[in-house]
Amino acid sequence: MENILNKMGLSRKDTIPVVHDKDFLYVYVKCDRCEEIIPVRISQKQEVQENYDKSKDKTYQYFVRKEVSGSGNNRCFARIGLYLEFDSQFRVIGTEIKGGSFVSKADYESSTNKNETK
Ligand SMILES: [Zn+2]
Repeated sequence: MENILNKMGLSRKDTIPVVHDKDFLYVYVKCDRCEEIIPVRISQKQEVQENYDKSKDKTYQYFVRKEVSGSGNNRCFARIGLYLEFDSQFRVIGTEIKGGSFVSKADYESSTNKNETK
């Protein structure tokens, strides 16, 4: 019998918060330079690539590389490069980021609320 906790993905914590919505994955990154929090939408079908490494020590099933920049509202056009590795269930098992850091959706939402009340 399969472990239900396992099935729900509770036994293994994502290394960063990722929001899954149908065919899309969302992550939120914060620009090192201007601290803007940028929502990043990743298409599971079009952007995520499969790792075709057939060796035994293959550690991940899918990966994506993406470069994003902010809205420009802060007059900052710095680029943030991110790289994610996923297992077969699309759980994040490895990350790399340049020019920014990963934050949670809640951080993003509170940052947009702040901007609205300004
Ligand atoms: Zn910036």
